[in-house]
This record gives sequence, C-alpha cells and structure tokens, in this order.
Amino acid sequence: NVEQVLEFRVMPYASSQLMVVVRDVTRLKQLEQMRKDFVANVSHELRTPLTVVTGYLEMLDGDALPPPAMWHKAQHTMLEQCKRMDSLVNQLLSLSRIEGARRQDNDKAVNVPQLLKYIETEAHSLNQEKKHQLLFDIDRQLDIRGSEDELRSAFSNLVFNAIHYTKPGGNIVVRWLRDNDRAVFTVTDNGDGIAAEHINRLTERFYRVDKARSRTTGGSGLGLAITKHVLTRHDSALNINSKLGEGSTFSFAFGKDKVIALR
Ligand code: ADP
Repeated sequence: NVEQVLEFRVMPYASSQLMVVVRDVTRLKQLEQMRKDFVANVSHELRTPLTVVTGYLEMLDGDALPPPAMWHKAQHTMLEQCKRMDSLVNQLLSLSRIEGARRQDNDKAVNVPQLLKYIETEAHSLNQEKKHQLLFDIDRQLDIRGSEDELRSAFSNLVFNAIHYTKPGGNIVVRWLRDNDRAVFTVTDNGDGIAAEHINRLTERFYRVDKARSRTTGGSGLGLAITKHVLTRHDSALNINSKLGEGSTFSFAFGKDKVIALR
C-alpha cells in the first residue's frame, strides 16, 4: 500500500519567473513496491528449503557421521525440500509464461471432460490419506476453446486446494456443466472455509491465509494467482464464496464464444 506520492520540480519559466511542475508518481511507486515485495517473497520461499538442505549437508560433512537411521531421515527431508524448490520454480515459470503470452496464442479446442478425467485420477491418488468423498459431475459433451496447459492448471489448482484445505473425511463436489450458453466449473468443499477479510487477497501472489500450516501442505501461495491469470486470458474470472468453518465454493464460467458443445 503506497499513499499518493507527488513529485515537484521547479523550473525556470520566461526570463524572471519560475514554474512548478507536479507529477503524480503514485502508480510508479506502487509498481516499484510490488516488484520489491515479489523479489523478497521469492527469495524467502527459496531460502527456507535451502537452509534445511544446507543444515543437513553441514551435519553430514562433520567429523562424526550420524547413525544410518538419521542419514535416511536427512536424505528424505533434503529430497522433499528440493522438490519444493522445483515446484516453486515451475510455478514461477508458468506465471511468467502466462503473463507474457499474447492472448489466444495457443488456443485450440480443448477436451475438458478428458482433462477432468486425468485430474480426477490425480485427485484420487492425492486423496488416499484424507479419504474425502470426491464426486465429479461432468458434462461429457462440453469442450471449450483455450489453452490446454493453462486450463489444466486452473482446474487442478481448485480441485487440489479443496483436498488440501478440507479436514479428513470431507465432501468435495466438482462440477463442469452447462448453464444456458455458458460452461461453468464449480468446486465445493465443506472444509476450513476462509474469513471474509482474506477472500479478496487470495489471488495475490504468495498470499496464504495460514502461512505456517500451508507450509506443511507444501503450498507456495501461487496457485490462485496463476488461476486468476489463466481465467483473465480466457475472458473469465474467479468467484469465491466461503464461510469460515463451513467450507468454500470456487467457480468460474466461460461465455458462449468459448464454448463448444458437441451434442
Ligand atoms: P497455496 O499454494 O498456499 O495452496 P493458493 O494460491 O492455491 O496457494 O491458495 C492461497 C490460499 O488460499 C491458501 O494458502 C489457503 O489459505 C487459501 N485456500 C485456497 N483454497 C482453499 C479452500 N478450498 N479452502 C480454504 N482455504 C483455501
């Protein structure tokens, strides 16, 4: 948050007069602040796993080698942290690719039911510990025009978040259905829910409601920022309805110029 910033410049005017030029540089300052915050966030997110890996490597580099059981734990933790860094870098790359892509660059007919079938399979394997009831209600004839890779990340971010942020044994319903001439995607969970003051900020990069808890679930706070960009590029927008302690519904719709209904 940057308050209004004005820049004053005094310049000679005519032979014996002065002129004051006032420039509103608020937007420039805001952009500068956003850039600094972004770099600070990326550095922080990378430093945390790096510190863990460095700590273990230093321990293994010492004179007395730790017992083999400890070695295995170290190996396991280092691998987890490296995967975390890898996933963060991949998300950053996809964010920058989406932001840089010209609209409709890679657009083609996308078989959304098939895409959702893959996501359903992944969701079931992710769900093994949580044992939620997962229901997929999919219109098998509903395709849209867009970028397949981008849409895959938008759909899967919402489905995987519902699994992550719902306590074991929850109910999650995923719908891909027609509503008049629009195609609507909805994910409803009866999970943690989100307090009203956070909802508008969820699509900011690195924004997480509960930073400590998200860290243990491996989240980086980039998923919904990516989803928002993907949807903007497809002339859509993310709707979030949520109540703390009761659950959430994340949804978006595509207009008729994007919809290809096959019946
Ligand atoms: P993360 O990598 O942390 O999951 P996201 O950008 O996908 O990042 O989500 C941002 C934050 O929004 C999450 O950290 C979480 O606090 C909140 N959130 C997202 N989806 C849900 C959900 N279905 N239920 C409750 N909170 C959610």
